[in-house]
Amino acid sequence: MADVNTWKVVAFDLDGTLTQHKCKLDVDNRRILERLGQRYQLLIVGAGSCRRIWEQLDRYPLDIIGHYGMQAASCHDGELQITDDQSVPVDRKWALTQAMSLRKQWGLERYQGDSMEFHASGLMTFPLLGTAASLEDKLAMDPSRGFRRRMLSTVRAAFYPYTVFVGGSSSFDIVPQPYNKRNALDAYCRRHQLSTSEIVYIGDDYGSGGNDEDVYRSPYTFLCIDDYRQLASCVSKLL
Ligand SMILES: [Mg+2]
Repeated sequence: MADVNTWKVVAFDLDGTLTQHKCKLDVDNRRILERLGQRYQLLIVGAGSCRRIWEQLDRYPLDIIGHYGMQAASCHDGELQITDDQSVPVDRKWALTQAMSLRKQWGLERYQGDSMEFHASGLMTFPLLGTAASLEDKLAMDPSRGFRRRMLSTVRAAFYPYTVFVGGSSSFDIVPQPYNKRNALDAYCRRHQLSTSEIVYIGDDYGSGGNDEDVYRSPYTFLCIDDYRQLASCVSKLL
């Protein structure tokens, strides 16, 4: 049984786990990272790019897996070094057509900015309110994730064979196979010669369709967090 004496790496989701969505790390959680960092290697496993994650954390020095394992990076002397950077081609016209069909079906035809966000890696985001909606509107749209869970099977069918996650505050992440957070952790273990029992993972999206669910349902030790402001109690047994 894995426990505090076994763990070498503490891995985190970012948005909703260490910070509010797309917001900076607050002072309290930064102090917690500093304390954990004295004892463990710290790792973020995120949906965003490694650089976006690093900037959101004000360039905090840790290992980063971005875009569900399509990117990896580490920090040395205050610089971010990208160690892996995968990309796959995307049929944008097809993706936009699928998104518009879903918008019509689910009453989401009013949106701000773009209907889809295309990342250089080939990962896509389907933001239900559009790319230019305010953070306030995004946070208010589906805080229980219930609406997106009702949509999930139709979004998965529309974007097959991509893997679709309920991600962000009001969006879906549409990810090329075979990338997901569990496979990304497995690759990290192989690269750093770690066993599954040496990593503990902390995430908030462990529910049905969430982007932490595959880690939650894997052999990795998973600590659930439902509010990033409760990080101190969540990690108390690690300190
Ligand atoms: Mg999250």
